[in-house]
Amino acid sequence: MAKISINMKSGEVAAKEIILGIDLGTTNSLVSYVKDGRPVLVKDRTGQSTLVPSVLHFSESGDLIVGDAAKDKLMTHPESTIYSVKRLLGKAYQDLSDYSNRLSYKIIDVEDQLVKVQVGDKFYSPIELSAEILKHLKQRVESELKVTANKAVITVPAYFNDAQRQATRDAGKLAGLEVLRIINEPTAAALAYGDQSEDTDETIAVYDLGGGTFDISILQLSDGVYDVLSTNGDTFLGGDDVDELIIKHWLEERGLTVSAMDEDKTLAQSVRLKAEQAKKHLSANNSFASGDFTLDREIFDTLISPLIETTLAKTKAALRDAELDSTDIDKIILVGGSTRIPLVKEKLSQLFNVEIYNEIDPDEVVAMGAALQADSLAGNQSDLLLLDVTPLSLGIETVGGLMDTVIPRNSKVPASVAKSYTTSVDGQANLKVAVFQGERDLVEHNRKLGEFILKGIPPMPAGIPKIKVHFVIDADGIIKIKAEEERTQTRTEITIKSQYGISEEEMGKMLIDSIKNAKVDMETKALVDAKNEGSALVFSAEKFIKQNKAILSEEEIATMSRQVADLKAVLDVTDKDVIYAKITVLNEYSEPLAERAMNHNISMAMKGQSLKD
Ligand code: ADP
Ligand code: MG
Repeated sequence: MAKISINMKSGEVAAKEIILGIDLGTTNSLVSYVKDGRPVLVKDRTGQSTLVPSVLHFSESGDLIVGDAAKDKLMTHPESTIYSVKRLLGKAYQDLSDYSNRLSYKIIDVEDQLVKVQVGDKFYSPIELSAEILKHLKQRVESELKVTANKAVITVPAYFNDAQRQATRDAGKLAGLEVLRIINEPTAAALAYGDQSEDTDETIAVYDLGGGTFDISILQLSDGVYDVLSTNGDTFLGGDDVDELIIKHWLEERGLTVSAMDEDKTLAQSVRLKAEQAKKHLSANNSFASGDFTLDREIFDTLISPLIETTLAKTKAALRDAELDSTDIDKIILVGGSTRIPLVKEKLSQLFNVEIYNEIDPDEVVAMGAALQADSLAGNQSDLLLLDVTPLSLGIETVGGLMDTVIPRNSKVPASVAKSYTTSVDGQANLKVAVFQGERDLVEHNRKLGEFILKGIPPMPAGIPKIKVHFVIDADGIIKIKAEEERTQTRTEITIKSQYGISEEEMGKMLIDSIKNAKVDMETKALVDAKNEGSALVFSAEKFIKQNKAILSEEEIATMSRQVADLKAVLDVTDKDVIYAKITVLNEYSEPLAERAMNHNISMAMKGQSLKD
């Protein structure tokens, strides 16, 4: 496999230009830059901490605060204080299943689009919110160094899919940063480790348990070559889940269930903070007590044991994929705040029986690696070679809804693979190419990235056309796809557009436009999105009313019709929030009606079934 050098050594980047290394975390974000060859972490104004809580608060007057000050508002203003945005990045509502219920703020279901967060009468995309965190980090550096910083390397979990990576890139752009590279967090951690290590040839495991995600990567390091052998993880496993387990335990002690807190978001938030406090306390003590809330290490360990076992199972899976044994690992690098939990270290040393390396602060190691990578891209580091892998398989749908894998997971990136397909019907002129990411055999269980139609295939008997589908994954792990009919030299090239992301066309436009215009671009797009969503909802609501006259009461029909008319009336405004407000009213009102209609239709169908039996 060809090795790809990331060392440009071009000298195109001016020597004193600052390129940021950013760890955009679910819970905490950090920013770093390289000075005299060493990564430096930027501290907050008080000089106390390098961590910026990834929390945003919108005040009643519409001002935005980010970081520690926002975290303080979690309890007092749960509905206007936004946390864990990274968990929403690149996601549609249906991707979140019941996660949305766990949040103290409101996210809205926008059909076939990325989710939006609602604060008061305003709507924000996770991309915009992430951009605000990035801006805050950028400003931290700028005010400390009195320079402008326009370029960055941003890290993402290795397990991030295409939509999540694209969303991260877009957030960078929106923050006024040129994102030179998206790199995987474990790879960044390995870079920071390699930079400090005397050993030149070893196999390491990077175990990252943060607030929201778990990542495990196995890497082979030799003389500045960082070769990722395999990666595994879970985008829904981390310290937040540990907190949830404690909350559940406390509620059970009182004979309550989690739903007891559904109504009272302020109560839920304060219990959450108490649980986190207990957890952190237990990392250094054997028992916790605060008022009525108590917990000791033994019970805590029992509670979280299954969660940690899950991370170990994934670690073993990564080892298997790398075709290694636990004894082949020379060192384990700990990353993420949750690795401070003693049981994590205990269980890991049982599994590996090797040195657990935690000389570098597990909070800071990723940002440091990102800064080193940034420095390398500026041509200042020598002999760095980064060989990453794809976290998920990529393929296309074939007859019968089957997933045909084109690039298997754990393939080296950048990658470029072509595969040939043909038609199944005589004279077939069009071929639909639907692209999926995931490991399951049926595409319906995998994530759809998008689809396109190859048009104008000259008439031929079935099986004769030779359609080459070409997958390209760039160094950021972002995917582009083309298709062409080879036999007749009809070179129709189409680049896929991601299902939820920004289209290629829009992306190209954004690149050409200066970074300064990014904000305006996003606003225009957001308005167009709102209008499209609005008209789609009008259409489906009208159809719904027509089809369900028998199930709906006269009053319900009248109310819904009025709401539809209200929505129609605002489709031409220039303020997207006005449109979303009407969308939300209609959605909220019609949801239970839709459910009732569905139940009715299902029971009718079942009756039909039993008659036949
Ligand atoms: P992320 O990468 O998701 O932003 P971090 O690596 O910053 O997350 O880890 C944050 C998580 O670490 C939170 O769930 C936090 O409660 C947890 N954490 C921080 N310090 C400790 C500690 N001393 N003991 C246990 N958990 C901790
Ligand atoms: Mg992290």
